[in-house]
Amino acid sequence: MQPFAAIAEKAGIAEMPPSQALIGGEWADTHETLMVETPAYAESIARIARSQPEDVDAAVGAARQAFEGRTGDWPSWTARRRSEWLLAFAAIIEADLDHLAALECLDTGKPMTQARGDIAACARYFRFYGGAADKLHGETIPFESDFAVMTLREPYGVCAQIIPWNYPAQIFGRCVAAALAAGNTVVLKPAEDACLSVLRLAELAVQHALPPGALNVVPGQGREAGAALAAHADIDHLSFTGSPETGTEVAKAAAVRHVPLTMELGGKSPQLVFADADVDAALAAVVRGIIQNAGQTCSAGSRLLLQREVAEVVLGRLAERFSALRCDAGEADADCGPLINARQKAKLEARLAAAQADGVRVMAQGRLADQAPASGHFVVPQLLVDIPAGHEVLREELFGPVLAVQVFGDEAEALQLANATDFGLCAGIWTCDGGRQLRLAKGIRSGQVFVNNYGAAGGIELPFGGVGRSGHGREKGFEGLKSYTRLKTVAIRHG
Ligand code: NAD
Repeated sequence: MQPFAAIAEKAGIAEMPPSQALIGGEWADTHETLMVETPAYAESIARIARSQPEDVDAAVGAARQAFEGRTGDWPSWTARRRSEWLLAFAAIIEADLDHLAALECLDTGKPMTQARGDIAACARYFRFYGGAADKLHGETIPFESDFAVMTLREPYGVCAQIIPWNYPAQIFGRCVAAALAAGNTVVLKPAEDACLSVLRLAELAVQHALPPGALNVVPGQGREAGAALAAHADIDHLSFTGSPETGTEVAKAAAVRHVPLTMELGGKSPQLVFADADVDAALAAVVRGIIQNAGQTCSAGSRLLLQREVAEVVLGRLAERFSALRCDAGEADADCGPLINARQKAKLEARLAAAQADGVRVMAQGRLADQAPASGHFVVPQLLVDIPAGHEVLREELFGPVLAVQVFGDEAEALQLANATDFGLCAGIWTCDGGRQLRLAKGIRSGQVFVNNYGAAGGIELPFGGVGRSGHGREKGFEGLKSYTRLKTVAIRHG
């Protein structure tokens, strides 16, 4: 039996989502298709649409028509009605959790527990933005006595969203729920490597009577569908989540027409463990922070900075934990799944080989589970030590389960090492000293700082975004909703 069939049968559902593009509420065939592979088996599991510029053009046209009310009644949906739809849709996602999680697990290779957590988070985004949709408002501003001045928060219009393969369902939730809550319409380009959960979510949205054209999905390749969407002359906002390199190309295309952007890019986030830390709690979070989704997470804690006094003890315990880690296909629910494709695996292995040639030492590593499929794109978790100062493995996002360790003397050196990167997405600080917690939280150059935790359990309510090469703008939380609106100032002279 094919893996998908086995997982879906266990989940009680044996159905693949639609494979076409969703344009104006209809599933439309494209001239060409793409094969989707499962990373754990390197087996083909589905064919999806390979949208071309003309398909993207049709999707943007459908989103424009819906936004202007030329098809459907989207503009007449009040904030309260959008809120009710989003809240009801959250419950629909939860009711379909088994099926969605099975798709996510097979398509991305991530362990089933993580896939289920991702779908639950997707539902939470719809619930959060459902609750927030009717609480978004402008302000009145005191001015001259014969004026009344107010700000209005208006939707942009047609929002283009380009998302990656590592968290398809979560990022769908974060982007689509916020954009719809604010009254926009959406054209979403999912990643070619993993988009089955996105297609299923779109199918559910259509079944749940979202007005035609409010949500459009154009599966396909980045250089075709993605580039056509970023360069389209009729989009009003662009949210891109992906690599810094692609982000640069997308930003250039959008800059031609000054389209407002949110850029959620990569990271090289440090975790700082001081001698006075709760080492047990820190160790658990450090391991989780790098093996989650096989390290293919923008916010992965991929650097560990250890204070000298505790370095030897912590490293010894960390090495034991790394040696106990097992990799297997997602449905086996092991510690770590495969990388997304053969290209990512080859790239990571080449970088690790080059690092070892430069003197970097693998202090400990996990292994493949005995029954793991031999054809999968697995790279076992690795703990890197003896890293020359400024080495690539300390600066560049490797996007795998690889933790780079450095040792520091005092707080000043810890801060200097933490900030020695062009990225600035997240940081974890482990210390019981309150003054140090605050000094470092202020001093670290990143969008998020977590003290005595890492990631705040995914906190969808918390604004999220980067500094420097990690991007700009904020998604998640109420800030994420505001970022899908533009502010208009109205000054009324009433005499
Ligand atoms: P990627 O940049 O290769 O692809 C992202 C998306 O862009 C995909 O849909 C892809 O098809 C599309 N794309 C590719 N080339 C394009 C082009 N020329 N024009 C327009 N679109 C194009 O990234 P990836 O490898 O899929 O994802 C991994 C990266 O995403 C990592 O760097 C990771 O850190 C980052 N990421 C960031 C966040 C965040 O919130 N900051 C979240 C998840 C992933």
